[in-house]
Amino acid sequence: MREKIVQTAGKDQLGEFAPLFADINDNTLFGRVWNDESIDLKTKSTIVISVFMGRGLADSSLKYHLMTAKKNGITKEEIAGIITHAAFYAGWPMGWAVFNMAKEVWTDDEPALTEKDKFQQEIMFPIGEPNPYGQYFTGQSYLAPVSTEQVPIYNVTFEPGCRNNWHIHHAKSGGGQMLICVGGRGWYQEEGKEAVELTPGKVVHIPAEVKHWHGAAADSWMAHLAFEVEGEGTSNEWCEPVSDEEYGKLK
Ligand code: MN
Repeated sequence: MREKIVQTAGKDQLGEFAPLFADINDNTLFGRVWNDESIDLKTKSTIVISVFMGRGLADSSLKYHLMTAKKNGITKEEIAGIITHAAFYAGWPMGWAVFNMAKEVWTDDEPALTEKDKFQQEIMFPIGEPNPYGQYFTGQSYLAPVSTEQVPIYNVTFEPGCRNNWHIHHAKSGGGQMLICVGGRGWYQEEGKEAVELTPGKVVHIPAEVKHWHGAAADSWMAHLAFEVEGEGTSNEWCEPVSDEEYGKLK
């Protein structure tokens, strides 16, 4: 279920003058028709803009619908396509009029989202700062503490192609590491075994003393929570990087 649309323009602007019209506008047109979930909001916005153009309406209410369209996820490229397409049927001057409005709504002053920002929107844990253990990784990774009490948990995020070196979690007893993938796609591999694909929800138990590596797929970001398992005499040993040849075989 998507978030309910609540409209008060009718009540705000015509509540006293035309209470029935205001009520129908807010509670029926927006309350029911806009909240009907049989088509998505981008499609609804596209329909409204097309109909406004077809009827030659380029007034402030169309400006409102253009702002709504942007909020509903219609990109600058998409609105340019929609207006161009509709203009051919609605009339070329109408296209000019609506483009002048759309340019004010889809301004270039907002910085574009980086790939890191986009991945952050996909996962519920912070990506955090560039990994201080970066020297033991190929490519860029990030580290964010999730819990520093009771069970220490870190979220580790890998850019596409990034992986850590072969390594061993040593322990005299207990120890090892547990991973839970929380976003994107990646790999976990123990020495002498096939790599295991990591997708959100995948849990990996890494025993102490087993040489292994973990990281992103070549074409995807990946984040996993890393749990340090309590043990006696624990330490980490970092070994050689995972070669491009080994890594390149994984699809
Ligand atoms: Mn490990």
